[in-house]
Amino acid sequence: MFPLIFILIIAVATITGIIEGKKYHNKKIKNTIMRGMQKQGLKKQLIQQNKIRHLDKHFSTALITSRVENAFYIIKQAWSEQDLSSSRAFISDGISEAYQIQFEIQQTQQHRRKIENMIITNSELVGIEADKHFETLHFKITSRADYPIEIKGRHKQTDSWVPLTTKTEYLTYVRLPGVQTRTLPGLIEGTCPNCGSILALSQSVQCQACRSLVCSGEYDWILAKITQEAQWRFQNAKRQINGVSDYQVVDPAFNIPLIEDRVTSVFWRMQKAWLIQNSTPLIAVAHSSYIEKFNQLSTAHFFDNVQLGLCEVSKVQFGEDFDKVSLLLKWQGNKITHTGKVPAATGYYAHHLTMIRKTGVKSDIKKGLHSLHCYGCGAPQSDNYQDRCEYCDSLFNQGEQDWILQDFIPHIEHIIKMKGQEFALSETAQVKSDRIFDPVSLLSGLILVLFADGRVDKQEKHLLDQFVKNRRIAQSVLDEIITAAENGQLDMLTPDETLDASGWLDQLIEMCLADGQVCAEEWKLLLKFGEKFNFLAIDINLRIKRKRQQLYRQSRQTLKS
Ligand SMILES: [Zn+2]
Ligand SMILES: [Zn+2]
Repeated sequence: MFPLIFILIIAVATITGIIEGKKYHNKKIKNTIMRGMQKQGLKKQLIQQNKIRHLDKHFSTALITSRVENAFYIIKQAWSEQDLSSSRAFISDGISEAYQIQFEIQQTQQHRRKIENMIITNSELVGIEADKHFETLHFKITSRADYPIEIKGRHKQTDSWVPLTTKTEYLTYVRLPGVQTRTLPGLIEGTCPNCGSILALSQSVQCQACRSLVCSGEYDWILAKITQEAQWRFQNAKRQINGVSDYQVVDPAFNIPLIEDRVTSVFWRMQKAWLIQNSTPLIAVAHSSYIEKFNQLSTAHFFDNVQLGLCEVSKVQFGEDFDKVSLLLKWQGNKITHTGKVPAATGYYAHHLTMIRKTGVKSDIKKGLHSLHCYGCGAPQSDNYQDRCEYCDSLFNQGEQDWILQDFIPHIEHIIKMKGQEFALSETAQVKSDRIFDPVSLLSGLILVLFADGRVDKQEKHLLDQFVKNRRIAQSVLDEIITAAENGQLDMLTPDETLDASGWLDQLIEMCLADGQVCAEEWKLLLKFGEKFNFLAIDINLRIKRKRQQLYRQSRQTLKS
């Protein structure tokens, strides 16, 4: 009797030990992955910061952070008052263009979006990049404010009971390498960094005293981009884009921030063209063949409350007459028909853009983010949208100065043209993709797949709720995307055209593993996703295991070094 009990006790103890040991091991892997990823981030940041310090020894993150906070208040107030003069000196042409057109859309709608009682609750420098063309800083700013809408002819409602809205945004600042940090006031403080005069700018970005083009990034930091939290993904300037390095051999100053700013302007001019049902806003930035195409398409609607989420170069190609850059744009807005005037629920859209430039033309880095200024003489492109410079008569739309729009088509059309209808089900194209996806793209792709049968399944909805909660994405973002899917207004097909279903699954797994483990809800969600593409549970488990081991190895290496 005794020995049997003894054996049993040993057996139980051993099994418990194994289970506990396994739990411990699991926890260790989880912690290692998390710590490794954090350290990797910090290390990268420090290397980039040292590159900036090497050229500018007074560079201070504390100083620039406080200046950026100050700038944040100035920009928000300018936007709310629909008067950009106080901020014009330190924002790019793309942002300025975007804001002007947003104001016009609001005026057409006879309402006015305002920002009141704003306070910054947190701000931090979250990313630094330095290459030979630009120094780039990414700030994460969280603020609280009221966002009332004033409707023309109606008394202002006193909504004192409405709680303040909290928002997190990412602001990207750039300047040219070698610019020095100074103790004197600069562009953000309303002073010309070249001659010290107080700046009085409107359309022109030229200092009235010394004639320098101040917002080129040649003198001080310039705000290049504002991204909402849900759409944010840290894009390393050195990410591998098909064709870029080959192209830079011929045109060394060709760089991504410049063309993305240019395309931002083109995008907003497109919105304006839809608003006024006329192609004139595009004349200076599009090839005549596209203008013809635009005029043939009927523009029965425009958009309000537009947010440009993603603007990303996907390919650069040499051509015989024109070189070509392909871009993917993702954005959202409320569609309004010109006859009905009632805004629809938020729609999510993706467009594929082709920009062209005459073969042999080279980029001019000295012009910085002056995408809407004449390259011949530096004068601003005038308000009345002409195809040539009023001062020096250079033609804007021949592709002889800068990249111009050749085509703008829905992303889905582009994919169908490229891959035919079998997209996603084929597992042949094993394109290695190192990109990090923004949560909204992944989420909308996921929802499109899950809701392909047209029903909103309660269990699936529950899993998605958990998924956004774990990723700290606002519930309202998920709800809006689902509504858009139900209304057929979700036009983003997948996070990336180069991904097949298999690559997509791996991306989802990696996203789930960012905190070191796949929780039960996430696992069920992955299974649901897999079902739609005939992946077996056993295959999915294997992929999770493989990915986790890979992340663990990488993290351990990082922690050791
Ligand atoms: Zn000056
Ligand atoms: Zn000119």
